[in-house]
Amino acid sequence: EAKKMGKNKYVIFDENLKNKINKEIQIKTTMNQALVNNEFKLFYQPKFDKNKNIIGCEALIRWIRDGQIISPLDFIPIAEKSGFIIQLGNWIMEEVAKVQQEWLNKGIKLEISFNVSAVQFRNEKFVNDLKEIFKKSQRNLIEMEITESVFIQEKDKAKTIINEIRDYGIRISLDDFGTGYSSLSFLREFEIDVLKIDKSFVDEIYSEEGKVYVQTILNMAENLHLETIAEGVETEEQFNILKSLGCKYFQGYLFSKPLPKEEFEKFVLSYS
Ligand code: C2E
Ligand code: MG
Ligand code: MG
Ligand code: MG
Repeated sequence: EAKKMGKNKYVIFDENLKNKINKEIQIKTTMNQALVNNEFKLFYQPKFDKNKNIIGCEALIRWIRDGQIISPLDFIPIAEKSGFIIQLGNWIMEEVAKVQQEWLNKGIKLEISFNVSAVQFRNEKFVNDLKEIFKKSQRNLIEMEITESVFIQEKDKAKTIINEIRDYGIRISLDDFGTGYSSLSFLREFEIDVLKIDKSFVDEIYSEEGKVYVQTILNMAENLHLETIAEGVETEEQFNILKSLGCKYFQGYLFSKPLPKEEFEKFVLSYS
């Protein structure tokens, strides 16, 4: 009986693996054409201050294929492996530059942040491409979100790149802070502007221990003159606790999910 079950399990596992590989191959082979076909879209999730004023937004990519939304978690890792992330990453930055101009024309003056993958960041053309793309932008209203993974290889090179981008007027935010390889020495060495407290800390904030972690991050950020934003805020209670601990900015489903551009514009214009 056990042997039989074991055999069945093996078959099930094999099928899942096959499906997973097929899905990956399908994503890999259709990504290039998807870019040509305009199937990638940026969604925008607003960011708020403690009075619930909108202070900016984060651009998050979606792949819309046959009316179905494919999550970046499903295709970004594949794009990183194949190298397609370089092209896609440039498209994301171009789109952000374009949308900023469009919004400024409509009187929407908001900071926009975009996410950069470590593979994209390490590409030798990255800084040049970024500079070219944001040449005519209002760069004081652009922010780049990176994760600690960009620091694990070639630290000195990463430092130079970050400094160059900051000198160009674009702010740097350290995304998912607390989950990666961050250490105090990194924060001392790298000039960054914002710490984005990972959702996993926000999830745990109800407990005393959970509060201690967030309080520690906030104290450290204050001493280092870094701005702080909490991601993944889902409840009013989390928002209130974060506020009481001194967190400056907030983002999460409590306020809004990421929205398609037109919906986001409506959200901003009707928000008060
Ligand atoms: P991230 O940059 O940390 O983005 C936050 C993720 O959490 C987003 O998922 C967002 O939709 C989700 N989120 C926001 N508020 C809440 C909340 O209150 N509750 C919950 N459960 N989730 C919340 P998304 O858009 O699926 O993106 C996932 C990750 O994929 C991003 O994490 C980022 O690492 C990557 N990604 C997304 N867009 C891009 C992009 O344009 N370029 C690159 N390189 N990576 C991207
Ligand atoms: Mg992000
Ligand atoms: Mg994040
Ligand atoms: Mg995250």
